[in-house]
Amino acid sequence: MSVKQYNFPTRIRFGAGARHELGQTLQAAGATRPLFVTDRGVAALGWFGALVDSVRGAFDVAVFSDMGGNPVLADVDAGTAAARAHGCDAIIAVGGGAPLDVAKAVMLMQRYDGHLWDYEDGLPEFPADDHALAFLVAIPTTAGTGSEVGRSSVISTDDTHQKKIIFTPRLLPPVVLADPELTLGLPAHLTAATGIDALTHLVEAFLAKGHHAMADGIALEGVRLVAAALAPAVEFARRGHGSLSPAEQAEHLQARAHMLEASMMGATAFQKGLGAVHSCAHALSTVCDTHHGLANALMFAPVLRFNFEVVPERLLRLARVIDPAATDGAAFIDWVEALKAQVGIPPTLGAAGIPADAIEALIPVAMADGCHPSNPRAVTPDDFRRFYQEAFAP
Ligand SMILES: [Zn+2]
Repeated sequence: MSVKQYNFPTRIRFGAGARHELGQTLQAAGATRPLFVTDRGVAALGWFGALVDSVRGAFDVAVFSDMGGNPVLADVDAGTAAARAHGCDAIIAVGGGAPLDVAKAVMLMQRYDGHLWDYEDGLPEFPADDHALAFLVAIPTTAGTGSEVGRSSVISTDDTHQKKIIFTPRLLPPVVLADPELTLGLPAHLTAATGIDALTHLVEAFLAKGHHAMADGIALEGVRLVAAALAPAVEFARRGHGSLSPAEQAEHLQARAHMLEASMMGATAFQKGLGAVHSCAHALSTVCDTHHGLANALMFAPVLRFNFEVVPERLLRLARVIDPAATDGAAFIDWVEALKAQVGIPPTLGAAGIPADAIEALIPVAMADGCHPSNPRAVTPDDFRRFYQEAFAP
């Protein structure tokens, strides 16, 4: 029996209104010059302005929000310039995966010289811990990536949109303010796509090669939460929070809280590893600029069917989370397909606007991706071709 390592260190303040603890959190850390890092979409929301104003009196506050969708190097460079100009001693990362990942990279590059790519995962050695970094507070506004409890930052090159991973425990936010109220306004299609991303993390982590009993346990409970909460969250989002009755609003908040927890559980569980669904999805984002969660949703079932042969008992355990009486792991794949349809994910890659002639360009990008080596069944270029073909014509 070999020696294994577990890490679960994040302090999470979880619940409705957790964002109001920002001032006391900064104060306890001794910060005086915080920089908010977010994207243009979040910066335009009313609660964001109120959050900034709530700490403006006690702290010297600056905001960087000049970024949009998938995070690229130029966003990190601009954010780093803002961090250096403000001389910030705290960074408050507010948003979905993109602003959170940019904020982590900005935190690093504010204090380290050289180029961000010098610190890409896999390079010989991360610089010694001789630079004090700004204090990082993560405030997630989507329930999907779970970047707030992750120790990596995924940033794309400006031109080819090739994803590069910066990985070090130093990127792990010491405090997360996880406030489900901030996700109540997320539109239905984004609720669905980010929610399926969280589900993919949980399932791929559970099926991944290697031993990690804590990750497995977290993954199973996370799947249970998604099964209970994703479809209602999407349905409430379709109707709009403001048009719900008080009782329904309370149910909506509960569903959002479950999804936010499940998302953090997914990112915690995938310390164990991910799988070929994510490699397929990363290629779709790089080549076709597909939303990450949507891409996972589209590629989920073909990869599960492929994995079923080697991990039937693991899929049966997942099926039993959904239905304790299940006797066949294939029921879990059927459930994933039904959930996809229920939350409004397009049935095929074609229906999602992906051109069929993209397949040959997708395969080498998927093969080069770092997620599939932990897939329970080894994947070849021909396998990837089949996954994409199946996702075009199930
Ligand atoms: Zn993901």
